[in-house]
Amino acid sequence: MKGTFPIDKFSELRTPFYYYDTEVLRQTIATVRQEAARLGNVAVHYAVKANANAGVLSIIREHGLGADCVSGGEIRAALKAGFPASKIVFAGVGKADWEIELGLDADIFCFNVESVPELEVINELAARKGKMANVAFRINPDVGAHTHANITTGLAENKFGISMNDMDDVIDQALQMPHVRFVGLHFHIGSQIVDMGDFVALCNRINELQDRIEARHIRIEHINVGGGLGIDYDHPNRQPVPDFKSYFATYAKNLRLRPHQTLHFEPGRAIVGQCGSLISRVLYVKQGTNKKFAILDAGFTDLIRPALYQAYHKIENLSSDGAMETYDVVGPICESSDVFGKAIDLNSVRRGHFVALRSAGAYGEIMASSYNCRELPKGYLSDEMR
Ligand SMILES: *Cc1c(COP(=O)(O)O)cnc(C)c1O
Repeated sequence: MKGTFPIDKFSELRTPFYYYDTEVLRQTIATVRQEAARLGNVAVHYAVKANANAGVLSIIREHGLGADCVSGGEIRAALKAGFPASKIVFAGVGKADWEIELGLDADIFCFNVESVPELEVINELAARKGKMANVAFRINPDVGAHTHANITTGLAENKFGISMNDMDDVIDQALQMPHVRFVGLHFHIGSQIVDMGDFVALCNRINELQDRIEARHIRIEHINVGGGLGIDYDHPNRQPVPDFKSYFATYAKNLRLRPHQTLHFEPGRAIVGQCGSLISRVLYVKQGTNKKFAILDAGFTDLIRPALYQAYHKIENLSSDGAMETYDVVGPICESSDVFGKAIDLNSVRRGHFVALRSAGAYGEIMASSYNCRELPKGYLSDEMR
């Protein structure tokens, strides 16, 4: 089964480009809101780094989600898209002074702090401005996620967060500082996680930590569990909306939230992944020694996930229902890693056919580069093509 695309509209456009199906996006956000609401006091912040396309951001903002930012540039993009500062959180292991100042000036909701030196700088910069900064500590829970090694973040060996051994000391230091207000704990264990057991492990760890901190009579108002829910790259048509029901139910069942607490989530990939496709034209079909190559006008400069993470994206020939043939689907970049898939079965391909690389809405357009002096791909919403 293939996705549905307005390919008559595509013929006027320069390829490659990203196409965002806004119906899938809206349906996904509606599901998130519906399933999250069952948990009571919940705030969902979309992780802007997954996709900062202005049109995509604006739809997410319209539906009332907050924004999780990991740079000053992302804070600017979120503010520009109309996200209220009171719904912006700022994470990142290396926040520059100007980025912290930007967050302070905008009065964002919270800084998710990843080290003591960073805490000291936030306190100092806030003092200069006569402000109080809300801070949560990103704790490294030493919980492994069953995902690709490059996208685990919650192990002791990863650079992220503050280790559990240091946690009590760091909270004590924050409580002494006059320009920061300790408001909560933050976690994020990795990405493309489909085994709910990983989130159960995180919940168990948070429960332990909460007991330990409460025993010292320190109040925690906010628990932020980050993002990480995976999507079905194999079957984008069968499962266009990720399994948010199981995801939120896992937290409802396993996390012992206190009545006064707000639970925060930061999904990125799960919100935008399935609504986006990279649309490309076939430039050439080349017969190699013992295989056929379909050479696209899109390359890893447009979608780097296969080259960077050995990621799989389903590939569809949108222009033909001809007999299936097997191809290595490759881009034009002068690097051997510029391969989207090997031994891929496609409806017989000819020059000029449109090909879709599916499930490319997250970490696609936003990671594009201009290597080889290529132009960055544009992104179009399906709304614009009616
Ligand atoms: C990347 C990131 C997310 C989003 O991760 P997804 O796997 O896309 O859901 C959430 N929180 C933080 C702190 C992140 O760095």
